[in-house]
Amino acid sequence: MKRTQKNDNYQVTKLDEVDLVCFSHLRWNFVYQRPQHLMNRVAKERRVFFVEEPIIDSGPVRWEIKHPSDRLWIATPHLTDKLSKEDSHAAHIELIDELLASNNISQFIAWYYTPMAMGYSYHLKPAVTVYDCMDELSAFNGAHPRMLEYENELLDKADLVFTGGLSLYESKKERHRNVHAFPSSIEKEHFGKARNTTQDPVDQLHIPHPRIGFFGVIDERSDLDLISGVAAARPEWHLMLIGPVVKIDPNSLPQAPNIHYLGQKTYDELPTYLAGWDVAMLPFALNRSTQFISPTKTPEYLAGGTPVVSTPIRDVVHPYGDEGLVHIAADVESFVTACERALSSDWDRNAWLKKVDAFLSNNSWDYTYTRMMQLIESELYAGSSFDNKYSSKNAGPTGITASALQSIPLELDPVQIDLPSNSGPSGVFDYLIVGAGFAGSVLAERLASGSGKRVLLIDRRNHIGGNAYDHYNEDGLLIHKYGPHIFHTNSREVFEYLGMFTEWRQYEHHVLASVDGQLLPIPINLDTINRLYGLNLTSQDLPKFYESVAEPRDPVRTSEDVVISKVGRELYEKFFRNYTRKQWDLDPSQLDAQVTARVPVRFNRDNRYFTDTYQSMPLYGYTRMFERMLEHPNIKVMLNTDYREVVNYVRFREMIFTGPVDEYFNFIYGKLPYRSLNFKFETLNKEWYQPEAVVNFPNEHLYTRVTEFKHLTGQEHPKTTIVYEYPCAEGDPYYPIPRPENAELYKQYQKLAASTPGVHFAGRLGTYKYYNMDQVVAQALTLYSKIAGVREGQATRTNTPHYLPVSLPRSAEPVK
Ligand code: FAD
Ligand code: UDP
Repeated sequence: MKRTQKNDNYQVTKLDEVDLVCFSHLRWNFVYQRPQHLMNRVAKERRVFFVEEPIIDSGPVRWEIKHPSDRLWIATPHLTDKLSKEDSHAAHIELIDELLASNNISQFIAWYYTPMAMGYSYHLKPAVTVYDCMDELSAFNGAHPRMLEYENELLDKADLVFTGGLSLYESKKERHRNVHAFPSSIEKEHFGKARNTTQDPVDQLHIPHPRIGFFGVIDERSDLDLISGVAAARPEWHLMLIGPVVKIDPNSLPQAPNIHYLGQKTYDELPTYLAGWDVAMLPFALNRSTQFISPTKTPEYLAGGTPVVSTPIRDVVHPYGDEGLVHIAADVESFVTACERALSSDWDRNAWLKKVDAFLSNNSWDYTYTRMMQLIESELYAGSSFDNKYSSKNAGPTGITASALQSIPLELDPVQIDLPSNSGPSGVFDYLIVGAGFAGSVLAERLASGSGKRVLLIDRRNHIGGNAYDHYNEDGLLIHKYGPHIFHTNSREVFEYLGMFTEWRQYEHHVLASVDGQLLPIPINLDTINRLYGLNLTSQDLPKFYESVAEPRDPVRTSEDVVISKVGRELYEKFFRNYTRKQWDLDPSQLDAQVTARVPVRFNRDNRYFTDTYQSMPLYGYTRMFERMLEHPNIKVMLNTDYREVVNYVRFREMIFTGPVDEYFNFIYGKLPYRSLNFKFETLNKEWYQPEAVVNFPNEHLYTRVTEFKHLTGQEHPKTTIVYEYPCAEGDPYYPIPRPENAELYKQYQKLAASTPGVHFAGRLGTYKYYNMDQVVAQALTLYSKIAGVREGQATRTNTPHYLPVSLPRSAEPVK
């Protein structure tokens, strides 16, 4: 990207002194939409000059300026028809220069809605250039032949590109390095008024119900045949159309006794009209001009609580159609059927409204505006000589001072990490990573060491390492705060990657189950069977034994099927049923097969819990390994901080989120179920407590298992610490619960996540997967290669290894 047009001497002292000059093809007094929503908000903080396209008349060349509010100027250039094309162009440029000079606009953000404005503003040197692309203007009727050429120039000059919808994002993202989707938001409260308004406006009062309404611009995007078809098919329905008629011949509009054109209304009046409609419609034609549209009226109608029927416009189908919020219908017949359905009383309106409200809860112009300004401010700093954003002398862009940022609690006890004093010369982080567990830390390390990115890693806990965190307790014993973590993997890549940050201690994990008064090896194997039943079978006899007790199941769908189909009901009851019920508060018949399939059945005497190729514990513990991973000048760690506390104040380009995905989206589809644990630690005044690291209690006690850490860590100590695990419903989300309905619910969040540009989701909670540590590492390395591949092609900037996508290691032995 060229930066030659940038004002290189730009010095930022106070960001609210930076003006904004907006070039728009839409006039300020046209329908109230994206430009007005955003510019009115900008004008609360800085001066805004809204520059319209010129009007050509017979008068002199001049500015017509309106000043509707304190910091907002609407500037309309008037050119004269008396000048040649070239002279007119020169006069236009002079007008622009005069506007800037006479208002002392020196430091400014240039904000473009129309690429055509490049023709008369290319020479300006804004501090930051933003292209807020709200429509594919080149696809509109009468588009200027040079529109695409100007758009290329604008993309070349722009520091940031915003798009008004996801389809536009897809079409622009390969054309600029810094594209962000900001689908249009709405003012919920404003349109929500429609839910409680009973008074019809006078020009609507006389029109009978049922009424099917539309508000918006009526132009080449409107499907006039559809409108006349629906009106003809149902003469008893009344179609109401509100809005200006633009670029099409008003005589071409369909006429019928039940089609009513009420003309343009003000933004303030719209909810009162909406309140009187039984159905709201989006009758858009499917053509070039609608390929990328993202109609703002969709959420506006929904906020008003009115059922919506739309033609299959891509950005309406996804997500509104997919989520069952809007009926989609492509032709007259199906449009009529969909309206009939919406008009009938045969559907659960309350449930639909609840879904609508949940969906809209994430949507606000205030949020969109804040996020856009953060990105702009990031660019502003990136191009300025202001290089120490944390210096206490300087106020930050939104009035946040360094001291405010530094007052965010940063507790490093008991882990000490060398923190860099600031995030880098520009004061902008490339990545904000939420969660310092395996997923977040691996990504932080890779992005910093592998791609030279600046990373802010945040965790709401007071330590790094996530659930794998270990520390020395007051007796000096190394313990795992969140229960026993044993590292095992079949992936050489994962093992070697982690090996860069730790030495390993060979350790093979063994587990005993307390059954019928004995401590027997689990997974069930030859020894387990012989000792449980006092038999003397050999491994040749064992398959026959299993066969004699197994109950075939086809298909093997649940966790009960897995066990019973291999070892029969009795062993299932003794070893699995009750343990599983305690652990998950569900019967194994209600859980996916993958849960108990983690614990195989063996045909030999191998009593190791895992048979993976690599089984080891980090020699100095997990936390030490994480510390070494994060020891990089480009990584800043901020603990005791929920990301929501800082997300509006920190400048970053992209986010990686490894917390619970449902929480990220404010639980809009409801909570994803998780299982939690209470840990009870005890330190005993003796050297050893039990023969192996873990003893499971399938049938006794409220706890599921007891772990003695010294077996895992190899520590020598006269005392020993053990932990009891009590499963529970409330508490930290430890275990995603694998059941078909939960997977379905997750799919909804996954779809939302996939359509949230600029945010990547990873980890056990971010992708709602019952993953082991090695699987999370593999997933993170794969995500890193995707990010690095996209951003930098094949080349890496450092000598550290470049990790190719890593296949997910299998968590257990193949299910036999
Ligand atoms: P986490 O480790 O959960 O990290 C996510 C982090 O995000 C957390 O630290 C959290 O505080 C932070 N966070 C969440 N929301 C926010 C927010 N809004 N703002 C800021 N921070 C936030 N795996 C094995 O391979 N072997 C084992 O033996 C093993 N034993 C286990 C035993 C138990 C009891 C449990 C619960 C898990 C076990 N696991 C084991 C699984 C292992 O813990 C996970 O695979 C791994 O830790 C997941 O890493 P992660 O980064 O995805 O998530
Ligand atoms: N399980 C069981 N009895 C046991 C061990 C495991 O029923 O003695 C079941 C239980 O449902 C458990 C699942 O198998 O949740 C997976 O066990 P694993 O040891 O892999 O669980 P994790 O490591 O996640 O705690």
